[in-house]
Amino acid sequence: MQTNFDFIVAGGGPGGTPTAQALAQAGKRVLLVEKGQGLGGTCLFEGCIPSKILRESARRLRELRRSLEFGLCLPSRDVHIDWSAIQQRKHTILAGRAQAALQKIARLKGLEVAFGTATLLGPHRARITPPEGKGFEVGFAQAVIATGSLPSRPPITGMDHPRVLDSDAILAIDHIPSHLVVIGGGPIGVELGQIFRTFGSQVTLLEAAPRILGPVDEELAERLQQRMQADGIEIHTGCRIERISHTGGGVYVEARDASGEPLHPFAEQVLLVTGRHPNVEGLGLENTQVRHTPQGIEVDSQLCTHETNIHAVGDVIGHPMFAHWATAQGLALARHLLGLPSHFPAPESNSAVIFSEPEIGMVGLTRAGAEAAGLEVEVARYDFAGDARAQIGGRATGLLKIVFERQSQRVVGIHALVEGADDLMGEAALAIQAGMPLQALAAAIHPHPTLTESFALAVRQYLAMHGPHGG
Ligand code: FAD
Repeated sequence: MQTNFDFIVAGGGPGGTPTAQALAQAGKRVLLVEKGQGLGGTCLFEGCIPSKILRESARRLRELRRSLEFGLCLPSRDVHIDWSAIQQRKHTILAGRAQAALQKIARLKGLEVAFGTATLLGPHRARITPPEGKGFEVGFAQAVIATGSLPSRPPITGMDHPRVLDSDAILAIDHIPSHLVVIGGGPIGVELGQIFRTFGSQVTLLEAAPRILGPVDEELAERLQQRMQADGIEIHTGCRIERISHTGGGVYVEARDASGEPLHPFAEQVLLVTGRHPNVEGLGLENTQVRHTPQGIEVDSQLCTHETNIHAVGDVIGHPMFAHWATAQGLALARHLLGLPSHFPAPESNSAVIFSEPEIGMVGLTRAGAEAAGLEVEVARYDFAGDARAQIGGRATGLLKIVFERQSQRVVGIHALVEGADDLMGEAALAIQAGMPLQALAAAIHPHPTLTESFALAVRQYLAMHGPHGG
């Protein structure tokens, strides 16, 4: 291996890998360093993909249980869940994707991959320490830090008990817990809580904030909470966790609810998902001018740190923490580093899906967010109860909200709670990115019967009731 590179990229997740690829494709000599088991990062090994694989099995189980509603009589109502087969399917998909990532990289001249921990020794030198064998040093002109994030562990007495798991551990669990207490009502807690509830766990969810899914549109979050409760998940918001105490066969989470009443749900397993923190462990930032806070590495609007030849992307620079966001930042940064015109992604046009049941999809600003930003906005709404496609699929509950500026009619936010919201968000992202006016959403001819018609129907309904300037 050569020892001098144009670029070193630390971290082979959805932030670092596409950045390294784009730089190498432009003819640069790039070293991509990854300390984990393969390329793909949290997203592939402990995040987006494994959680969605488990969720897919849960989704199919729910569908099977509803067969009679669709006129399908199965020989038995009992579905045997083969948990080890579900986990095996997960392993097979992850291994295949990890291998495909390496094969793709191998085709790129100029891009070398080193498996080991990258530690900066100064602004132009790094040490690579492989899991086994001798380490080595390399020189570089520029560096990109994309080392992601790690699960946070709040200081709760008893949290070191082996029955207290983080999201990495629960995704690899070898059985379905009988009683699961989820501490944390963010996207990961909601998603995993619902998955295990579908598989038969008794689930209790404890959230410190007054409501689950804090930054999400309040009405959609409330509707989802009602659905979760109807599905048998016990939810307590405004909770204070006091300690985790253990018994022979499990643990008790001792807490106080919003009115100060004691709660002590029994858990065979506790899932602690109270957030993630940027991962700067072992990076050697102290040997450089790069500064960081608990929120992440500090960067300017072009993702440059306080060390002018070192940049950072993805979870390591803080929220929002999404795979597509890390990739968008990495690709914009690569263009910028190559001297090409580049648009760095703006948080107000980011898209996200919470893979709850049903999903919540969101792009851009909520009404509350837009008003806080000083915009005068209106909201066009559409209830999926009357939607053709939703009725056909037996999923006619949910709501679409399109937030737009009153004066210019520019769409600034789209939010949906409906089964299939994930697939609606591509069009929503385009509309926000293009700064589309409300009427343009209705002018596009949407195929019938699909959920995408909801965009046009929401706008037409709004215009019929309020006219073009609303109020
Ligand atoms: P990471 O993916 O964390 O990659 C960083 C890489 O850097 C890791 O592979 C790590 O091993 C490596 N590394 C760390 N330190 C060093 C070092 N010193 N030297 C070399 N390598 C190092 N996002 C979505 O968009 N959609 C989802 O559905 C979704 N679901 C999720 C579900 C769960 C349970 C979790 C935990 C996360 C989920 N996310 C989801 C978030 C998503 O996984 C992250 O936002 C994304 O992976 C961040 O990408 P990244 O490249 O910044 O960091």
